[in-house]
Amino acid sequence: MKKKVIVIGGGIIGLSSAYYLSKNGYDVTILEKGNFAEACSRGNQGWVCPALHTPVPEPGLVGSSIKWLMKKDSPLYIKPSAAPKLSGWLGQFMTHCNEGDFKAGKDALHHLSSKTFEFYDALKADGLEFEMHQKGMLFIFLNEKELEQTKAKFVESSKVYGHETPTILSGDEVRQLEPNISGNVIGGLLLEKQRHLCPETLANSFINKLWDMGVKLLCNKEVTEMEKVGSTVVAVKCNEERFEADTFLIATGSWSGQLAKLIDYNLPIQAGKGYSITIENPKVRFSHPMYLGDTKAGISPFQEYTRIGGTMELSGINLTIDKKRIQGIRNSVSKYLTDEVQGVNEVEWTGMRPMVPDGLPVLGLVPNVENTFVATGHGMVGVSMAPVTGKVMSDLICNGRSDFNLEPFAPGRFSR
Ligand SMILES: Cc1cc2nc3c(=O)[nH]c(=O)nc-3n(C[C@H](O)[C@H](O)[C@H](O)COP(=O)(O)OP(=O)(O)OC[C@H]3O[C@@H](n4cnc5c(N)ncnc54)[C@H](O)[C@@H]3O)c2cc1C
Repeated sequence: MKKKVIVIGGGIIGLSSAYYLSKNGYDVTILEKGNFAEACSRGNQGWVCPALHTPVPEPGLVGSSIKWLMKKDSPLYIKPSAAPKLSGWLGQFMTHCNEGDFKAGKDALHHLSSKTFEFYDALKADGLEFEMHQKGMLFIFLNEKELEQTKAKFVESSKVYGHETPTILSGDEVRQLEPNISGNVIGGLLLEKQRHLCPETLANSFINKLWDMGVKLLCNKEVTEMEKVGSTVVAVKCNEERFEADTFLIATGSWSGQLAKLIDYNLPIQAGKGYSITIENPKVRFSHPMYLGDTKAGISPFQEYTRIGGTMELSGINLTIDKKRIQGIRNSVSKYLTDEVQGVNEVEWTGMRPMVPDGLPVLGLVPNVENTFVATGHGMVGVSMAPVTGKVMSDLICNGRSDFNLEPFAPGRFSR
């Protein structure tokens, strides 16, 4: 008989894990508290850019962002009323803003991301149909200093990790690629091999594939209890309903701390809220995804719409759409364009990035529990890292090992 695994959480990490587990011969059920991939895994920018995978806690980050922290329309905002609850997490986060941890985190992320494009190509080859583009990633700047600093980072990462070296563009060369970029832009950097995809189509293609593979996808099932006998979880409960399995995987994004508590595992995770505006039939169009280097916002062009987005807000778990932050994104984007990106229909969205203090995903067996795993903490790069995460979780669950070194991502590292 096939071994049974329950994946808790139907975001992109849960869906991808279910896909690889089912391929490995498991009988898979996903329990999702709402609808599949309706939380952080849609509405995002969809960048698949391993060259950008670095831990969020960076040396100098605290000093450089202090000017933003309390400003509602800035790229990084901490809600004053949430600050007391966040203080422990923020304290830990700040201790990781040093050269040593940043370098170790980069090494770990680059190792785990080294086959990102191969994984995505394999999904396509297996019949998953989603909108993915290979047009590169364009970084544009209003300010010479920002351009130079970003260039130096990419040049270093090309030497150390073998990523492509950036093509350096003048303002006019940027405008040849993207005619709607304004004269304020003084130059840009192009990473030609990076990709972007439409996250809604990726989630839908996983869902369709999982149905075809016989995975049970159960929505409106919120896991409220985990039943343990000794050090083994034997079942989970969604209110009165009980589901038994041999193995469990927690993939509940920003909510993973709440699930972890049910089995006495201390997981320091916070929601890093971001916002986007999806614009159908926009009057200005673009052919490349773009990172706006000075204001930290992004533009992603898809077949059906253009999406602008960004910002990092620490305000706890909530899906309130703060209009000032939405306006902050619109203002920061308009500085770079000849005209406003307006369209027929505009959808404002917010999503909570699962953030842990050292900025690295949490992948592996929960400490002191025999059969429960966790896969979360992907922060800004969960879409990009979804296939490799699904693969390593499936390998760990099925074979007890992975080809990747998962030591830096160990779930027990927070209690050391
Ligand atoms: C503005 C923005 C832009 C971004 N751009 C990019 C990008 O360009 N590239 C990139 O790689 N990443 C990007 N990200 C990050 C990416 O979206 C996330 O890292 C990723 O979606 C996290 O996926 P997840 O499955 O871990 O979490 P989620 O998508 O949040 O899924 C978790 C799921 O668990 C469910 N759940 C929670 N509690 C329970 C429970 N008790 N029982 C059952 N189910 C439960 C939730 O309902 C949810 O569906 C962006 C994020 C934002 C906000």
